[in-house]
Amino acid sequence: MNAPYSRRTFLGQAAGLAAAGTLLPAAALRPAGSARADDPATGADDVLPVIDTHQHLWDLDRFRLPWLESQPKLRRNFLTADYLQATRGLNVVRAVYMEVDVDPAQQRAEAEYVIELSRSAEHPTVAAVISGRPASEQFADYIGAYRDSPYIKGVRQVLHAPSARPGLCLDKTFVRHVRLLGELGMRFDLCMRPGELGDAVRLADQCPDTRLVLDHCGNADPKWFTGGESSAETTRSREQWRRQIGELAERKHVVCKISGIVVRAEPGRWKADDLAPVVNHCLDQFGPDRVMFGGDWPVCTLAASFAEWIGALRQIVAERPRDQQRKLFHDNAQRFYELA
Ligand SMILES: [Zn+2]
Repeated sequence: MNAPYSRRTFLGQAAGLAAAGTLLPAAALRPAGSARADDPATGADDVLPVIDTHQHLWDLDRFRLPWLESQPKLRRNFLTADYLQATRGLNVVRAVYMEVDVDPAQQRAEAEYVIELSRSAEHPTVAAVISGRPASEQFADYIGAYRDSPYIKGVRQVLHAPSARPGLCLDKTFVRHVRLLGELGMRFDLCMRPGELGDAVRLADQCPDTRLVLDHCGNADPKWFTGGESSAETTRSREQWRRQIGELAERKHVVCKISGIVVRAEPGRWKADDLAPVVNHCLDQFGPDRVMFGGDWPVCTLAASFAEWIGALRQIVAERPRDQQRKLFHDNAQRFYELA
């Protein structure tokens, strides 16, 4: 169950890099600690520091993740040591843990687990977004227990899970509890089916004082932009997504995580260019101050290693001003999550 990365796995992934056609900037391949990118003396070619706003870890000896039933490739432990291996040389300086949809009976245990990780200097994890069920009457009691924790920054319920019916996030109790999160100074992550972003807009309008985070570029499918045959259905989905990203971006209390989309790309065959239309639309709509990088590791490994995903993103934004890149990879997350 616990199979840490072997050297062979690591080399295998490096070989896969070439197969994916992903060209990493030379600086991204430098060993960790060899360059301090935040040191102006090291020059403009150095890799910017990164805060990963979407880090998953799971210890299957402690937690049950029912959704792994259908994901055999992810059905093993992913611990800090694995994360450090996956991010080696990439200048990831801190990470915000993202809940992993554990069995709801273990939500408090997961929260306690990530508080421990965040407290310890041995882990890059410094804060967390925990699981919760805002539609439940017990939610206020549950989240109230963490109101004074400096480590708990917000809540997510995966709304694209089969157990989450369409429209759930607009239920009265759900909305009331997302408002409560704002009163507690916490955030709520929107992880939805792309066809339901209209619900996110309506939720945002009903919760003007809660900071909302749109996960994974609204779960757009990069293939909408690259597919040879473009069906009417594809066109409709793509245009609706484009429009609704614009509507969400108009709400200043909504920010967008640039994350997750690579998992929908074809393993071993995608290129940075395939992801660019989705990334660029989000960056252009939300602007330089309301976008944050997320690794979504180890889920991303279904299609790309952490290095391949961040390498592709660096390539996509390479022509943008360096201060905007720094905001995307680091500064916005530090400010948004009020990290010390
Ligand atoms: Zn994720």
